[in-house]
Amino acid sequence: MNYKNPDENGYYGEFGGAFVPEMLYPNVEELQNNYLNIIASSEFQEEFQDLLKNYVGRATPLYFAKNLSEKYQTQIYLKREDLNHTGAHKINNALGQALLAKKLGKHRIIAETGAGQHGVATATACALLGLECIVYMGEVDIARQAPNVARMKMLGATVIPATSGSKTLKDAVNEALRDWINNSTTTHYIIGSVVGPHPFPDLVARFQSVISEEIKWQLKEKIGRENPDYVMACVGGGSNAAGTFYHFVNEEDVKLIAAEAGGFGVDSGKSAATTFLGTLGVLHGSKSLVMQTEDGQVIEPHSISAGLDYPGIGPFHANLFKEKRAEFFSINDDEALKSAMELTKLEGIIPALESAHALAVLEKKKFKKDDVVVICLSGRGDKDMETYLKNL
Ligand SMILES: *Cc1c(COP(=O)(O)O)cnc(C)c1O
Repeated sequence: MNYKNPDENGYYGEFGGAFVPEMLYPNVEELQNNYLNIIASSEFQEEFQDLLKNYVGRATPLYFAKNLSEKYQTQIYLKREDLNHTGAHKINNALGQALLAKKLGKHRIIAETGAGQHGVATATACALLGLECIVYMGEVDIARQAPNVARMKMLGATVIPATSGSKTLKDAVNEALRDWINNSTTTHYIIGSVVGPHPFPDLVARFQSVISEEIKWQLKEKIGRENPDYVMACVGGGSNAAGTFYHFVNEEDVKLIAAEAGGFGVDSGKSAATTFLGTLGVLHGSKSLVMQTEDGQVIEPHSISAGLDYPGIGPFHANLFKEKRAEFFSINDDEALKSAMELTKLEGIIPALESAHALAVLEKKKFKKDDVVVICLSGRGDKDMETYLKNL
């Protein structure tokens, strides 16, 4: 099976597609018809690769974590996405899509954000490339994430509160979609993870695939072979995991491990572990696994990490789960906190709470002494200091 890219209708197995209101067809079709040609062009690639290198700071190191390896009696390498400009992997995608928007002749960017991380990455890319930037954010999230709101404003973005429903991410998505319908000729919608209608999951996965592209040559340099035994990443919507898995997903000798947010526990009613709790449904324009009631109402997720607090999972990952190509773990809030503290003590690296979920798999699965295990450290922990101080 080809797990890497969707078919021409945007399906990964039974998951994916483009379920949008008729008024959005022109926007989505314009993207579907143009994205592959534009990102394959040498003009786009030259500009994008130059920015990844000189602006984002790529290639990010593949760091052999000696102390962590000793503790778990295996060979652990950390892919340091935390060292990117703006502190996480999200900038890879935000820059790629902002450049794509320019090539499509759009000068206005909209985005929606929950914790504010994607909003900051998008506002950064727009400041750099001279694009107007509007970020929709739930009113409740604006209050919870004041430092990121301040960053977006300083970067020149307009932050518009979503005041309907629960005043959180899903309401911000609705506002963004409404905006896109009304401003289709001038505006591109930068979606922040491998979710949304086709072609967004594939588009975002391609922009994040630089992560596994680098892992391959870096491993070759360090250990003489391109493929590790395991790659691991946390999954919210799934973009850092898609980037980490991308160039390994069709190679049978590499095992894939995904860590979802268990919150207080999968049976607690306060969780975000979609593969454990989700059923087939349509969320944000694609068919995938969704946490929902029997009559299709989306269930509010919970995770201590804002970036994993999402009631769905991208179709790329739903397919890996269904086909048992990847192994999924559910990591609870307290387990993630413990792993964050452990990495800090052993290696002097304060990880993002999201990334700590991937690290926590080390406690749950036994690896062999000579297994090579690559873990994506998706972001740094500065943004989580308040939570760490409260809980540690
Ligand atoms: C947003 C975020 C995530 C979760 O998003 P994915 O699309 O699943 O990668 C993970 N880690 C960090 C640091 C984030 O900011």
